[in-house]
Parts: sequence; C-alpha cells; structure tokens
Amino acid sequence: MGLASLHGKRAVVTGASRGIGRAIALALAEAGAMVTASARSESALAEVAAAVGAAGGRCYSVACDVTEPSQVARLHDAALSHMGGVDILVNNAGAAASHKFLNHPDELWHQMLAINLTSVYYVSKAFAPELVKQGNGRIITIASIAAKAAARYIAAYAAAKHGVLGLTRALAAELVTAGVTVNAICPGYVDTPMTEGTISNMVQRTGMDETQARAALEQMSPQRRLIDADEVAALTVYLASDAARGITGQAINVDGGAVMY
Ligand code: NDP
Repeated sequence: MGLASLHGKRAVVTGASRGIGRAIALALAEAGAMVTASARSESALAEVAAAVGAAGGRCYSVACDVTEPSQVARLHDAALSHMGGVDILVNNAGAAASHKFLNHPDELWHQMLAINLTSVYYVSKAFAPELVKQGNGRIITIASIAAKAAARYIAAYAAAKHGVLGLTRALAAELVTAGVTVNAICPGYVDTPMTEGTISNMVQRTGMDETQARAALEQMSPQRRLIDADEVAALTVYLASDAARGITGQAINVDGGAVMY
C-alpha cells in the first residue's frame, strides 16, 4: 500500500459526471476507495460508473441536484445504504458564468451562489454528522483561484468561491477535534467542458478563434498551459489519505504559479 492508499474508505463525489469530478471519482477508486458518484445527468454518471468498474473499482451513481436540499438528503441516504458509511466527501459540483457588473442580472448572482456556495453548505451539512460520529473523515472542496483572486466579469463566481474558503476554514476549525479535516483545492484553468464553455464565450464575445481563445487562457498561467483534471484528482487523493491527516483549513492552489498565496 502506498502513501495514498484509500483501501476500505468510502467516498462521495459531487459533480462527478464529467471534467474534474469524473477524474476524481476514477482516481479515488484507483486508490482503493468505494465511490458514490453524483450529478444531475444519470446517463453521464452511468458512463463514469462503468469506467470505474472497467478499471477494477466500485462506483455507485446517484442523481442529485446539489442546490436542492431534499435531493441532497436523498443522496445522503443512498450513499449510506450503498456503502454503509462515508469517510470522504468531495464537494466538486460547480458552474461558471460571467457578466459585467453594471446591469448584472440578480438571477445570475443567485444561481452562482446557489451552485458554487450554498450547495457546499447543504452537502457538507448532510454528511458532516456521519464523519463526526466516526471520529475520522475528510471534506475536500474544489474551489478555484477565483476563491483568492478576482478578475473582470466574474463578480458572482468570485464571491461564491471566496465564500467557499470561509466555509472551509470555519468547518475546519469546528470539526478539528472530531478528527475531520476540511480543505479546499484552488485550480487555475483546467482542461474540462467548463473551460470549453469559457473558450466558446470568448469566441462569441471577442472575435478570437478557438485556438486564440485557448492560447489566451494558457497565457494566464506562468506555466503557459491548462491544468489537467488528473492533477487536481491526484491532490484530492492525497488530501483524502491518512498521510494528509495533519493538513486542515488549507486552500491549495494547482495553477502553475499564477497565484502565490
Ligand atoms: P464541468 O462543467 O466540466 O462539470 C461540472 C460538474 O458539476 C458536472 O458533473 C455537472 O453535472 C455538475 N453539476 C453542475 N451543476 C450541478 C447541480 N446543480 N447539481 C449537481 N451537479 C451539478 O466543470 P469542471 O469539471 O471544470 O469543474 C468542477 C469544479 O471545479 C467546479 O466547482 C468548478 O467551479 C471548479 N473549477 C474549475 C476550473 C476549470 O477551469 N474548469 C478552475 C477552477 C475551479 P450535471 O450537469 O450532470 O449536473
């Protein structure tokens, strides 16, 4: 067993139907964890569960909109009945949208807070009692470098992601004596369907072609590249492992050196 073995551990991953969440579900299973993969799209989840199975892992899928507390309660019950308990919660589900602040639609503000911040509150609140009862557990939230720094046109997304770090730190302080660690990962631009959406937006709004838009995002990193979802997944596996038991209340950047705090 390596440093990051997760044999015998049970994990829940939200937003696991594609992108970073899919990579995390696969990596946790590869490290030996049993996984409950969740998102709204049942067909995409079935594909992820099949991919985990094909690689020799165990993965259940549960459809859930994490902005709806009643659906989060169902996810909690389903995960417990499939796996017999939960040791690792990965809050990954999220969405990005941009708008100028002048005439910012209130609806977009509420949507961005609901999916990127309130959902993390609902899901963490649902699973925290289980982790506390066991006296051992991990909550890992995929935030963003937009949780520490901001840019034009992302007021709502940046506010929600900054909020997620406040929640992470408060929860870390509150759960530390219960043996539960709570951390965030802050990626720069990752090569996922979300970033493809950002690229299409840039094409529509700026007249750049797709290659130029992708290159512009790559240039935002000192490493001049997009992050791979597997890099975020590898750090998630490490934070979930016993080796990381001393790390809590942290927000770790995976961004090629763009933000150094
Ligand atoms: P994708 O858009 O590729 O995937 C998002 C995932 O979240 C999908 O599985 C989607 O599934 C799920 N999801 C969206 N809305 C809901 C909802 N209401 N309820 C449940 N699940 C939902 O995004 P990424 O993989 O790129 O991003 C994952 C996380 O990483 C997000 O929190 C994002 O903010 C963060 N991040 C991403 C970066 C990037 O450059 N891509 C950079 C920094 C942070 P479905 O639609 O089936 O529900």
